[in-house]
Amino acid sequence: MYILADRPRRLESYVGGVWTRGAKDGVALLDAATGAPVALIDSSGIDFAAALAYGREKAGPALRRMSFHERAAMLKALAQALMDRKEEFYALSTATGATRTDSWIDIEGGIGTLFSYASKGKRELPNTRVLADGEVETLSRDGTFSARHILTPLEGVAIHINAFNFPCWGMLEKLAPTLLAGMPAIVKPASQTAYLTELMVRRMVETGLLTEGSVQLVCGSVGDLLDHVDGQDVVTFTGSAVTGRKLKMHPAIIENSVRFTMEADSLNAAVLGLDAGPGTEEFELFVKEVAREMTAKAGQKCTAIRRVIAPRAHSDALIAALDERLGKVALGNPADESVRMGPLASLGQREEVRARIRDLAADAEIVAGDPANPQVVSGDVEAGAFLNPVLLFCGKPGAARAVHDIEAFGPISTVMPYDTAEEAVDLVKRGKGSLVTSVFTNDPRIAEELVLGIAPFNGRVMIGNRASAKTSTGHGSPLPGLVHGGPGRAGGGEELGGIRGVKHYMQRTAVQGAPGLLSAVTGRWIEGAPVRADGEHPFRKSLAELRIGDQLVTATRTVALEDIEHFANFTGDTFYAHMDEEAARANPFFDGRVAHGYLIVSFAAGLFVDPAPGPVLANYGVDNLRLLTPVYPDDALQVRLTCKEINPRINAEHGEVRWDCRVTNQTGATVAQYDVLTMVAKTRG
Ligand code: NDP
Repeated sequence: MYILADRPRRLESYVGGVWTRGAKDGVALLDAATGAPVALIDSSGIDFAAALAYGREKAGPALRRMSFHERAAMLKALAQALMDRKEEFYALSTATGATRTDSWIDIEGGIGTLFSYASKGKRELPNTRVLADGEVETLSRDGTFSARHILTPLEGVAIHINAFNFPCWGMLEKLAPTLLAGMPAIVKPASQTAYLTELMVRRMVETGLLTEGSVQLVCGSVGDLLDHVDGQDVVTFTGSAVTGRKLKMHPAIIENSVRFTMEADSLNAAVLGLDAGPGTEEFELFVKEVAREMTAKAGQKCTAIRRVIAPRAHSDALIAALDERLGKVALGNPADESVRMGPLASLGQREEVRARIRDLAADAEIVAGDPANPQVVSGDVEAGAFLNPVLLFCGKPGAARAVHDIEAFGPISTVMPYDTAEEAVDLVKRGKGSLVTSVFTNDPRIAEELVLGIAPFNGRVMIGNRASAKTSTGHGSPLPGLVHGGPGRAGGGEELGGIRGVKHYMQRTAVQGAPGLLSAVTGRWIEGAPVRADGEHPFRKSLAELRIGDQLVTATRTVALEDIEHFANFTGDTFYAHMDEEAARANPFFDGRVAHGYLIVSFAAGLFVDPAPGPVLANYGVDNLRLLTPVYPDDALQVRLTCKEINPRINAEHGEVRWDCRVTNQTGATVAQYDVLTMVAKTRG
């Protein structure tokens, strides 16, 4: 087994497609609970310029040759392979000080993020290599000059510099959108817990699922790596604000305008609503959430609650409830199953946190927990980096600074009282930008005032109340589909957020030109581009035969008053505009009775459908339906159906086809416009 056979082992970096040891023996990394050496880390002698060149020249082109769906399939297979090996990661994770629950966030939370991006890539992105962004802009009156934004993968390497607290999730949450975008990465884990990242990368490489060079790993210092970055590279950083600022100002990053995403210290808050006094469900939920956030991962979470903002009248009750709850948390060696909170990552980290508690004491007094004498249920109290949860109270938070400025990266929070909702909002803002703030209230007006007040200062806001008590994902969990990042002190960066996160690794380009050429570039037909009407109904064509621009113009159909009345009675939609001439005339939009919008759409289908069995398998919806001109009795409808986008699925015998559908009347005016979505077989059956 990895941890027992060769311990402490010399960690290796994976660069240029080869596992490489540093030139020196390296620095020892110690088990957080026992102090036993786990690994040695060193990266000296590595040629970082060559690693970057390898990523750019070898891995980037191979990734860019794949479509979004192919990359998504790669992520899914990788996630499955890692999940199959998860117990090995759990076993090693204990050395970082993580309990099984902490490790679950890191290991399965990270793998889940890969799964999530795999699924989003397949469902929300086309099976292409270029992504069209936004709508077509028509730039000429006659429609011969238009524009569209496209996104293409950057041709450099994404350098991910990660924090020590989530050696797996921290890597995977950044890798998933990077690889899906088509960019290779160099991962640099924080040294303290790099052995777990190294193990996971080793297993990733062994699967053979990753395209060559798409993930490189540096265990140890990145040396002169950043000296070689250019404008096609991306650097992301998670860690302390001091290091983040230093790296952001690196000359090569500034000179080459390298995209730099930073996620740093964050004085996150939780606000108890004025309505949520002791005895309410929200009060109980709040106590649970604050205690959980303080103790999960021993408070070493970028999203942990540092500031507990509570109505002055309820502060004493809150402190008493938190004291009682925190007192029950079993602190000790995470290898012991009864332990609920493990040690900090290292003795050095504990010294750092104790120093920050002393800084906080300038504004606040300790009301629960002794920072000096850890009360452990198991483990070596001398060698392990154990620290009791410590709760502070700051009576005048409006006049205090330290409690809003100093992040003690451990099981530490400060309770701050407030009297009015504006005051609570002001206290949150004093954090100068946070990753997340939660608000616990069951009063819609309080929720509105607090959330809208604090939103500009937060990347995410969670509202907690009794209705979501069982289903809430909690204050501290960044989710793949939601933005993770925050303004100001939180670093000003943005990660995750679903497909938004993928776009961080792509260049947005406005492309202008004649519609035909724009269609060729984007792989999507646009108005004004050439069409093909070869006499064969496009519904008779399989994906192999169909081309974008294939078009059908139908016969016309006149809408009779009886049709409108029949449709109204048949469906039950007897809205007055269809049934009552006088009332319809009084309506500012109509000159008399009009056809139902859904009647128009139904007649349109009757006009364009080819009824016999064939390659078209199903209609799965319409997008962007707009009814633009009223249809009156005796108007004649005609449909123009044009193949707009073809998405063959990988691993299936069919794909999606999007059709541009335009319904006009006898004057040529567009009465309805929408996209029809169908499933079509790849070949004729
Ligand atoms: P650091 O900022 O020291 O390190 C973060 C990452 O940057 C690590 O991978 C580190 O590598 C790397 N690094 C450090 N210096 C350089 C450099 N000159 N060039 C390139 N990379 C560099 O943070 P720590 O992980 O040590 O944590 C310190 C504090 O940061 C914590 O106590 C906490 O307050 C805060 N923190 C905040 C987080 C957040 O998201 N809000 C997350 C984690 C930490 P190496 O480990 O090899 O030095």
